[in-house]
Amino acid sequence: MTAILTVANQKGGVGKTTTAINLAAAIAQRKKKTLLIDLDPQANATIAFFDPADVQVSMFDVLGDHRAEMAAAIKPTKDPMLFVAPAKLALAKLEQQLAGQFDAPFKLKDALAASLKEYDYVVIDTPPALGILTVNAMVSSTHLVVPIQAAYFAIEGTDDLLETYERIRARPNPALKVLGVVITLFDKRTNISRDTHEQIRSVFGPVLFKTRIGKNVRLEESPAYKETIFTFAPKSPGAQEYRKLALEVTQRVEEDRIASHTEDAA
Ligand code: ADP
Ligand code: MG
Repeated sequence: MTAILTVANQKGGVGKTTTAINLAAAIAQRKKKTLLIDLDPQANATIAFFDPADVQVSMFDVLGDHRAEMAAAIKPTKDPMLFVAPAKLALAKLEQQLAGQFDAPFKLKDALAASLKEYDYVVIDTPPALGILTVNAMVSSTHLVVPIQAAYFAIEGTDDLLETYERIRARPNPALKVLGVVITLFDKRTNISRDTHEQIRSVFGPVLFKTRIGKNVRLEESPAYKETIFTFAPKSPGAQEYRKLALEVTQRVEEDRIASHTEDAA
């Protein structure tokens, strides 16, 4: 069974894309065949791997009226265990194109079905909005990973995300779970970071991952060189933290599988 993880938070600049890229790369390093899907029209995750000119088939072609096969969009990376399904700005037109189609929220789930058995993990990067693209990601997924920036007002926006999550669980995808919340852009020198960490811990409790992602300039630089943190600066704190996060993520997925099996057997 493939674990499908949506990385979501409707705020921009909270480390979604950085987390999607480096979490996917770290899971791939754990010898799990991993597919990173870029569902953000801004295509930041895509650009971190490829030149836009080298993207022939994007998720827009897969999800839109074009109906390209998912397999046609998937591209290999330098890591033989890591694959990327790229985005293009055209994805921004999808909302309009899918308007009124009764199966609009299921486009990704349907497209992904044929490719799923090839991958152990799928990681989906989403735009900073709770529109049709993020809904498609959540309908297709087994789990949600929520990055929250260590900054004031960081938690405010999560209400809407959790409301969307509950609505998706209520009908199209009752199996969806929150795998965890991860604190990003943490700066241990500031009170703001420490205060928000406390606040996030009191709101989310055990859902919070133990691993915190600190502010690390290497994480900011690596996409410009079309590298993940693991080839760009493998010994940096950012690399170490994303490795630790991937370990926690894969452990929680395994634990969840065992728990679900026990439930099924009971
Ligand atoms: P989102 O996808 O939520 O908009 P990004 O991952 O693109 O957020 O991050 C926003 C900006 O912050 C980017 O310039 C990114 O390089 C930078 N960034 C993200 N995480 C870190 C980090 N841990 N340390 C330093 N810079 C970071
Ligand atoms: Mg992003």
